[in-house]
Amino acid sequence: MKLESYVLGSWWAGRGEGAALRDATSGEVIARATSEGLDAAAVLRHARVVGGSALRALTFHERAAMLRALGKHLLGLKEEFYELSYRTGATRADSWIDIEGGIGTLLAIAGKGARELPNARVLLDGDVEPLSKGGTFVGQHVCVPLAGAAVHINAFNFPVWGMLEKLAPAVLAGVPVVVKPATTTAYLAALVVRRIAESRLLPDGVLQMIAGGVGDLFDHLTGQDVVSFTGSADTAARLRAHAAVAGRSVRFIAETDSLNCAVLAPDASAGTPEFDLYIREVAREMTVKAGQKCTAIRRVLVPSAAAADVVAALRAALDGVVVGDPRVDGVRMGPLASRDQRREVLARIDDLRREADVICGDPASLRPLGADGERGAFVPPVLLYCRDAARAHAVHAVEAFGPVATVIPYSDVEEGIALARRGEGSLAASVFSADDDLAAQLVLGIAPFHGRVLVVNRHCAKESTGHGSPLAPLVHGGPGRAGGGEELGGLRGVQHYMQRLALQGSPDTLTAIGGRWIRGATQRKPAQHPFRKPFHELVIGDTLVSAEREVTVADIEAFAALTGDTFYAHMSETEAARNPLFGGRVAHGYFLIAAAAGLFVDPGYGPVLGNYGLDALRFVKPVRPGDRIRVRLTCKQKSLRADKGWGEVRWDTQITNQAGETVASYDVLTMVSVHAMPDQAS
Ligand code: NAP
Repeated sequence: MKLESYVLGSWWAGRGEGAALRDATSGEVIARATSEGLDAAAVLRHARVVGGSALRALTFHERAAMLRALGKHLLGLKEEFYELSYRTGATRADSWIDIEGGIGTLLAIAGKGARELPNARVLLDGDVEPLSKGGTFVGQHVCVPLAGAAVHINAFNFPVWGMLEKLAPAVLAGVPVVVKPATTTAYLAALVVRRIAESRLLPDGVLQMIAGGVGDLFDHLTGQDVVSFTGSADTAARLRAHAAVAGRSVRFIAETDSLNCAVLAPDASAGTPEFDLYIREVAREMTVKAGQKCTAIRRVLVPSAAAADVVAALRAALDGVVVGDPRVDGVRMGPLASRDQRREVLARIDDLRREADVICGDPASLRPLGADGERGAFVPPVLLYCRDAARAHAVHAVEAFGPVATVIPYSDVEEGIALARRGEGSLAASVFSADDDLAAQLVLGIAPFHGRVLVVNRHCAKESTGHGSPLAPLVHGGPGRAGGGEELGGLRGVQHYMQRLALQGSPDTLTAIGGRWIRGATQRKPAQHPFRKPFHELVIGDTLVSAEREVTVADIEAFAALTGDTFYAHMSETEAARNPLFGGRVAHGYFLIAAAAGLFVDPGYGPVLGNYGLDALRFVKPVRPGDRIRVRLTCKQKSLRADKGWGEVRWDTQITNQAGETVASYDVLTMVSVHAMPDQAS
């Protein structure tokens, strides 16, 4: 069967025979992949023109809702994906990371988009920058989706996770995707793409997939496109240097190989919970997905004094690992993804053996359970021990992308840090210690060389997500050898597909562009109290200026009695006078906020459903008994929750005194019904 590409809105088969894609356990040919004859320029055009236009017409919330629906749809089909995933050599547990981990990541990003992004097409980045004395000229950073395509070149090890964790941020940003799965396991990615296409949940052109090579696609890239590459450092270096990428400043995100380390701190000697946790984690990282994880622990850094105990414990833990057909009960570790990959891993083990001794695992004598070792891509867990860590080179540079790790002893903390740094940039490291000062020293020592550092001790281990798991809200990537890229990290990953620009202009112009009212912009005086207006009738800039209220000693004392807040600055003139900030008795800041609400609310039953918080509250100037305050409330930003029948309305709020000076400043956050009377909601 020829694996088809999904391009230009339909399935398309390349010319020629193509590369054979094989079952990792039996060697049987599953499909052949070729993209010969692909019109890559047309694929990019389709993405930019058809997919990009459709996405950019939607708001962040609409895109998030689409991704959420897609995630739920895929979850319903997961058993079909699990079944096919066995052919990649993955056990059910391995596939859980790939399939449910991938769908979960997509759903998590969709959730963040719905919760943390506005229902808008432009993302504001940071606060307004005042640029002029009179306030008529201001600056504001905004992010808009790039007008190109996101080209995702993925590794073979996580065909589903790798595709979905990149798809979700790009689509949420408003950028269509052309995905090129690694050929070895492209049949699984293709099945997921087929189900996505059938669902019609994504507009045409938003997702295309190339089975096989990308042909001359790179020649057609422009500065509006983004390449996100996952794979080996060699390929990344080659692609990064492509004339179009370098010459047209194409954004290039790389996640490459990595000699990740796990550091056992000197306090975590045998017999401590941290020692046991360390052994369990190293053994798990070596065997999950047969060690084919970019984040897997490759360097096992241990104090010299603990090295013998670590070796004995790891040997015991790895001895019991049953290797075989991942479909067979009792098998803990399946084969690598292909025989080619097996050859590659065995060659890299030979490289490592020049500096390290194999202390556990012999590929030659492996008898896989339920499978033919001659046909499948089986390798047992192989543990090595480095003879001279300080002078060794390969153990810090050679990645055997399989169930392989090397124990490397260090003499003291400084040497431990120095050895960790010799990986020259890794995706993830972990430190096992119950001594937080020691952990801090180790973490700060290795931090500049890592994208993520996990510290494990007895208090957090039970709920720890583990060394090797990239998580949707946390950054995945690393400096130097790890590629220098960054993905995920919540909404950080979305911004990789957007152009950030600095806008300069008048407050009114920037309000119109960004959709958020800026101080200095026009304040509209609506005929009715803005709290009487349902969501759609509210206009950005609608303003209420309240009546004045005098703050009295009686107010302050009543508030103190009611709340129990009898802080001396509110209660005692003489003690408050000694306070260098106040010089005399002042009102509670919280009283001002409460009094301001009393001044601005419209009490009658109406469209305002509730207040869900304040943002950016600052008490700017003390208010003394006898001062008179008033409030200005301006509709600052609106974000519709279309499915809920209400929208979030942010009000720019300023309390001033009788001299017109600002005493407090904040945003009031409300939920406002789309109906004049909320009981009309359906
Ligand atoms: P690879 O050879 O670099 O391949 C990675 C991807 O690049 C595949 O999709 C491959 O397609 C594609 N590719 C290769 N040459 C290309 C070219 N000239 N133009 C366009 N695309 C090209 O890596 P691998 O050996 O398959 O994967 C294992 C490596 O990936 C390991 O080193 C591992 O550490 C790394 N990895 C890193 C991460 C991470 O997040 N940092 C995650 C997983 C894996 P074909 O399959 O068609 O050749």
